[in-house]
Parts: sequence; C-alpha cells; structure tokens
Amino acid sequence: MNFNKHLENINIYEAGKPIELVVREFGIDPKDIIKLASNENPYGCSNKVQDAVSQIVSKMAMYPDDSMTKLKDGLSKKFNISSDELIIGSGSDQVIEFLVHAKANSNSKILINSVTFAMYEIYAAHVGAEIVRTADREHNLEEFYELYKEHKPSIIFLCTPNNPTGDAINTQKLVEFIEKIDSDTLVVVDGAYMEYASFKDESKRVEPSELIKKFTNVVYLGTFSKAYGLGGMRVGYGIANKIIIKELYKLRPPFNVTTLSLEAAAVALEDEKFVVDSIEKNFEEMKKYEEFAKENSLEIIESYTNFVTFLFNDTQNSTNIAKMLLQKGLIVRDLSGYKMNAIRVTVGKKDQNIRFFDLLRGLI
Ligand SMILES: *Cc1c(COP(=O)(O)O)cnc(C)c1O
Repeated sequence: MNFNKHLENINIYEAGKPIELVVREFGIDPKDIIKLASNENPYGCSNKVQDAVSQIVSKMAMYPDDSMTKLKDGLSKKFNISSDELIIGSGSDQVIEFLVHAKANSNSKILINSVTFAMYEIYAAHVGAEIVRTADREHNLEEFYELYKEHKPSIIFLCTPNNPTGDAINTQKLVEFIEKIDSDTLVVVDGAYMEYASFKDESKRVEPSELIKKFTNVVYLGTFSKAYGLGGMRVGYGIANKIIIKELYKLRPPFNVTTLSLEAAAVALEDEKFVVDSIEKNFEEMKKYEEFAKENSLEIIESYTNFVTFLFNDTQNSTNIAKMLLQKGLIVRDLSGYKMNAIRVTVGKKDQNIRFFDLLRGLI
C-alpha cells in the first residue's frame, strides 16, 4: 500500500522507555525500577488534583467542556492574558503539531537548534517542510540570525530551557533576536521547563504576556507535564496573538483534552506551592549531581531544568552505559540518537539519585 510520501522520512518518536517494558525484558520487579528518563516530576502532583479528579470521575459519560472555561480562566489569570490568546492541547506536543500544520508546507523551511526537542522535526516531516539546523550545541542566536537571513524559514523554534541539554537563553537576547525577525515568520518559544529556569535565574525568565504584547508573530508554549507533575494527563498550551490562535483553532479536533485532564490542570494551577516546593527540591538534588560529576571527573551541562546531561569522553559510550543502567533497573535517556555521546538523567528523589550515583560510579 502507498502512504503519504512525507511519512517515509519520519523516524518514530522514541519516548523514555516505559517501566512496563523493563519489567518484561529484564524480569525486574517493578518496585525496583527507577525511571529517570522522561523529566516527569518525581514528587508526583498536588494532592488537590487527585481529590478533584476523583470527584468528577462520575462525569465520564459526558463529553468534556469544549470551551475549557475553567482551565482557560486559570491560565488567563496566571499569565495576565485574555482567553482568545490561548489554546489548550493534548500536551504542548499537540500545539506544536497545530503550529507546524498552520504555517508550513512542503515549500517551507523550519529553523531549529542543532540538538533540541525531537517533535519539531517530526511534525515538520508531516508536511514535508525542510529542517535547517544550527551547528552550535547551545542556542547561538547570532547563528540563528545568519541562518534566518539565508533560508527565510516559515518557523523558528527556540526551546528555552532546551531539551535535551538543559541550557537556557538569556531573555533580553531572546527579545533582541525576535525584534530582527520579520513579522511573517513564526517564532515559537517552547517553555516546557520555564518554571525551573525562572526559579533558578531571573535573567532566563520569559513572561508570555510581554512577548505577545510586543510581537504578533510569537507563540509561547507551556505544559503541565513537567513541573506540574501531570505527564499522564496530557495538557499543554500555546499563548499568542489572537490572530494566530484563531488559525490554530481551525486545526483543533473537538474535545481534544479530556474532562479529567482539564480538571487536573485547572486544580494544579491553584496549588503553586506544590510546584515551588518541587522546584526547590529539584535544585537541591541537582547540586548533588554537580558534586557527583566533579568527584568523578564527569562533564555535565549546567541545567536550568529538572534533568542533567552527562557528556562522556571517548573512552565511554553512552549507549552502553544506558544499557547497563537499564539492566540494573535504572532508566535514563541515551542521547546517541542526537549524535551526542551523552545521557540525559531526570533529577529524581533523594534515594533515586543515590542509586543512580552508585550505579554510574560502578560503570565508569
Ligand atoms: C516535554 C516537552 C514538551 C511537551 O510535552 P507535553 O507532554 O506534550 O506537553 C514540549 N517541549 C519540550 C521541550 C519538552 O521537553
């Protein structure tokens, strides 16, 4: 059978290995498995969410509130925007999909960082758009600008902080960069880990409302999957000028976010203390990663997120290291697929991190 020829160029996205697969492949007891592979919040989510979700389980027979009023009100208030400057997706992944489909086609180019979130490229392939990448590992906005002038891309993706490396762009530089971009080029600022970055360093904080007031061609993306601890609920959002949002709505399937997910996200927003506590613990634990790296002469990238990327030298092989950790029940992310001899490790809880340090020490 023939399929859409664009699909030939797509490598299926490989998510962090699920615990269930490790149980099956290695016969390890699920309670001995530690997953530090998908940047989930190791502290779970707010207790208030669990209570609220169990209260509305009885509404499962009904379609969700497709106006998403409760969650939209919560987000509008938090970000000081109006609800027509907001779209909610089944994860921010889905908003990325809308953006690419709305703006790009097989004559388009999409400019991304050399190593960055894999879904930009996958959605670009859906529509046959050409990917242009920078060379530098960290977002180098001068290089982005040179490539922008040369290629005239339809979309520029800036991921700050960046996944899978953890570095973040200085906000002032970000704004100065966008000022030089013509208003028909869509600039996407993916802030999946922004809660972490703005806690650690004020100069990396991006305020979506300021961006969209200043620029009609910018979309800011956020998610409930990371700091809010709701990866299993699949809720993300895009914030932009209402003209962009209106176009994205043309691509949105009805009821794209479930009743339980909408409720979970809305209630999670009301418990900022849970988020702040998790972020504080995250950076306390991250210090131990920095100490561990120093003690063992391992190179890490300074991180503004809830994960740490270890860069190995030629005597070490990230794929082997990830495999050996997996055999011991510890799941991390091998970055060889990004052409890096590196692993990305989500900062877990104290005991999980100790286990990781012990295992990795034994391997290097
Ligand atoms: C996790 C992540 C997302 C989206 O996650 P969703 O679960 O789809 O909301 C988007 N961008 C980056 C960089 C991420 O790491």
